[in-house]
Amino acid sequence: LELRPTSVRAVCERAGKLAEARALQTGVTLTLELPASELVLDLDTPKIQQVLLNLLQNAVEALDPTGGGTVTLRARRRPRDVVIEVEDDGPGLASPDAPIFDPFFSTKPEGTGLGLAIVHRIVTDHGGTIDVDSHPGRTIFRVSLPVRLGAH
Ligand code: ADP
Ligand code: MG
Repeated sequence: LELRPTSVRAVCERAGKLAEARALQTGVTLTLELPASELVLDLDTPKIQQVLLNLLQNAVEALDPTGGGTVTLRARRRPRDVVIEVEDDGPGLASPDAPIFDPFFSTKPEGTGLGLAIVHRIVTDHGGTIDVDSHPGRTIFRVSLPVRLGAH
């Protein structure tokens, strides 16, 4: 990892921009909910960018291509970590115990199954965690990235 002080807002806004074209094509509404105050963490900026983009891409792909839908990217600061969530109002995981973080697990005809494996690796390399909370109509991928004591 190449850690540099990284604005959480900037990295979220950039990922949102990159995902927007895809979302617009399929009639998906993409919403960003970012805190007013600046959050700066030591992150590998391009890798965290890729994490957010992979999660946003999955969220858009989970939505019915004819039915619109909503994807929300939000971030918030807690005392010891920053939580970044990607939420969609799609059908949810096909099975609650599907090994979605394993390489090559995919339920998509053309899926590589690599997106979440890469996401998991990058997040854990940062000392963070990722969880999913999924029900029909609402799926949230929640990334927690630690705030190092004394940093920023
Ligand atoms: P791929 O997108 O190539 O299938 P991923 O590793 O990105 O591979 O995702 C693995 C699987 O996890 C997907 O095939 C899908 O079954 C499930 N998944 C990921 N994100 C979502 C989501 N937002 N809603 C429903 N299922 C999801
Ligand atoms: Mg994917």
